[in-house]
Amino acid sequence: MIYALVGNQNSGKTTLFNALTGSSQHVGNFPGVTVEQKYGIIKGTDYQVVDLPGIYSIRPYSNEEILTRDFILNNKPDAIINIVDAMNIERNLYLTLQLLELRIPTVIAINMMDEIRANNASVNIELLSELLGVAVVPISAIKEEGISELIQVVENTAKNKSIPKVYDFCKPGPVHRCIHAVSHIIEDHADKVGIASRFATIQVILNDQHIINLLQLNDNEIETIRHNIVEMETERGLDCEAAIADMRYKFIESVCSQTVLKPEKSKERERSINIDKILTHKYFAIPIFAVIITTIFWLTFGPIGKLLSDGFSSFIDKIIGVIGSLLASYGINEVVQGLIVDGILAGVGSVLSFLPMILLLFFFLSILEDTGYMARIAFVMDKLLRKIGLSGKSIVPFLIGFGCTVPAVMATRTLPSERDRKLTILLVPFMSCTAKIPIYAFFTNYFFVEHKALIMTGLYFGGIITAIITSIIFNKVAFKGNPIPFVMEMPNYRLPSLKSVALLMEEKAKDFIQRAFTIIVASTILVWILQSFDLRFNVVEDASLSILGSLGKVLEPAFRPLGFGDYRFVTALVTGLIAKETVVSTLEVLIPTGITTILTTASALSFLTFTLLYTPCFAAIASIKREVNSTIKTIGIIVFQIIVAWLISFLVYSVAGVLI
Ligand code: GDP
Ligand code: MG
Repeated sequence: MIYALVGNQNSGKTTLFNALTGSSQHVGNFPGVTVEQKYGIIKGTDYQVVDLPGIYSIRPYSNEEILTRDFILNNKPDAIINIVDAMNIERNLYLTLQLLELRIPTVIAINMMDEIRANNASVNIELLSELLGVAVVPISAIKEEGISELIQVVENTAKNKSIPKVYDFCKPGPVHRCIHAVSHIIEDHADKVGIASRFATIQVILNDQHIINLLQLNDNEIETIRHNIVEMETERGLDCEAAIADMRYKFIESVCSQTVLKPEKSKERERSINIDKILTHKYFAIPIFAVIITTIFWLTFGPIGKLLSDGFSSFIDKIIGVIGSLLASYGINEVVQGLIVDGILAGVGSVLSFLPMILLLFFFLSILEDTGYMARIAFVMDKLLRKIGLSGKSIVPFLIGFGCTVPAVMATRTLPSERDRKLTILLVPFMSCTAKIPIYAFFTNYFFVEHKALIMTGLYFGGIITAIITSIIFNKVAFKGNPIPFVMEMPNYRLPSLKSVALLMEEKAKDFIQRAFTIIVASTILVWILQSFDLRFNVVEDASLSILGSLGKVLEPAFRPLGFGDYRFVTALVTGLIAKETVVSTLEVLIPTGITTILTTASALSFLTFTLLYTPCFAAIASIKREVNSTIKTIGIIVFQIIVAWLISFLVYSVAGVLI
C-alpha cells in the first residue's frame, strides 16, 4: 500500500514523514524545502509513504501543484494523509476541500496540536470529522504524539477504501448550478478515465488543459461548458476562479466557526511580531544579518573551529603516522608505501581534517533556519533581489547553494517563471558550497593565519557580489523582463529543535566522510599514479617530468597571468571538477613541502578567487544539465563560469600585486 502525504508548505509534512519512517529528511522552518517526492517505509509495516512538495491548492499553474496533482491522479495512492497546520487551519483547509473532491480514501492529520494546547485554543476533532466526512487525527509531528493512532486510522481507511463522505461544498446559487451542469456533461467522460467527476468538473471550470484533454470532450460539449461558465460569471459578478474560491472559503468559515476555538493572537505569533520589529526593521535588518553571518564565520573559522580542527587533524596525523610505521616495519615495497602514506592517507587526511569546521558551520546555519530567521532573510532580501532583476523566491536556491549546488539547482523548480529559473541556475554556482571550505581553510592556514575569518567572509561575499553584478548585466542583455512577485508566509520563530539540528549534522558528516573515502580516495590514487610515473611508466624523481606534469604544462600558460601558472595548481583545479575537496588532497600529494614555497600571497588570493568562481563539480554540472535540458546551454554556462573566474582572478591578482 502507498500513502501520499499532502499539505501546505511548512505544515510539518517532512517532520511527519520522518516520524513515520524514522528517516532523516531535511526539515526546515522554511517554505520550499521539499521540491521532490521522497519515498519511505512506515516503521514496523511494509506500507510506503511519499512526501510531496507543499502546496496551497491544486490549480493547474505551478510546477509543484502539477507534480502533486499528477502523482495523485497517476499513481493512485491507497490513501492521502492530508496534514493540516492547526494554527492556520482555515487556510490549510482550502487544499483539504480540493483533496476531498478527489474521492480517494483520505485522513486528515491535524498537526501542531502542541501549539494549540500551549495557546489554550482547541479544535473539536469529532465535529470536524463529521462535517468533512473523513477521519481526523490530532497529532504533533515534532513531539511524535498521535503517530501510532494516525497509522492505525490510515490503515483502516485504506483497507476499507473509505471515501470522503462530503464533497459538495456549494450552497444553491449560480456557482452551484454551473458546477452541476458541467458535472452532468463530463460525468461519463470522467468515469471512463477514472477521475473523480467532482474534481474533474472544477478543474475543467478552471480551464485545466491537462484534464480537459484527458476527458476527450467534443466541441459541442466544450461549447456548452463555456456557455455555462460565462453565465455563472455574469450572474455571480466574479470570474470563475474567484467564484469557486469564494464558495470554498464560505464552507470553511462555517466549518471553522463550529469547530475551532482560536486564541485572539497566539503567543508565538505575538512573540514573532515583536522579534520581527527588530530583525526585519527597515534599516537594521541587513546590518543585523551581516553581523550574524560574520559572527558565525568568525566562530566557525576562528577560535572554536580552529581548536576542533587542530585537535582532529593531529589525531588523523597520529593515525597516519602509526599506519606508516607499521608498513615500514613490515618492509612493504617503497612505491606501495608511498602510494598508501603519501597518496591515499595524506590526501584523505587533509580533507577529513576540515570536517569539524563544516559541521560547525552547518550547526549554526541549521539553527538560523530552524528558528525561522532564514525565512525573514528571504523576505528582507526580496526587495533587494527585485532591484537586481531577480525574484525573491530565488533566495531559496541561493541559500541551499551555500550547502551544495546540486539540490540548489533542483530547488529552482519552485520558481514560477522560466526566466527567473534560468537566471537563478546560472547564478547559484557563485554561492560558495561547503566542499570549498577545505580549500579556503587550507590556504588561509598558510597565508592568512591572522585574518582567516576576514578572508572567508570576503570569499563568500565575493561570490554573492559576482552574482549580483552578473544578474544586473544579464537583466539588461539576455533576460529582459520582470521577475514574478513572490509571496511567502513567515513561519513563527521557534526554538531550534536539537533533534533536527543533530539529524542535519549527522547527514552532513556521513555525506562528507563517504565522499572522502570514495571519490576523494579514487582521485587521490589517480593523481598519485599520474605524478609518480612518466609516459613510459618509469618511476620519476621529479614530478614535473611525470604524466601529470606533462599534461599540466599544456594548460599552464593560460593561468600564468593569474599568478599560479604551475602544473600542480592547474591539476588541482582539474581534479576539483570531480569534487571540490580534491583540490586540497591533490595539492597535499603534489606539494609535500607546502604551497608557500610556490605561491605568493597575491597569487594565493587569485587562486582562491578562481576556485570560488569556476565551474562546480561534475555532479552539479549534471544537475544543471538536467534542469536546463540542453547540452549546448550547459556548455555555455560552464564556459561562462570559467571566463568570469578567469577575469575576476586576474583582477584580484593585479590589484593584490599592487597592494601587498
Ligand atoms: P513541510 O514544509 O510541510 O515539510 O514542514 P516541515 O516538516 O519542514 O516543518 C516546518 C516547521 O514546523 C519546522 O520548523 C518544524 O520543526 C515545525 N513543526 C513540524 N511539526 C510540528 C509540531 O507538531 N509542532 C510544532 N510546534 N512544530 C512543528
Ligand atoms: Mg518538507
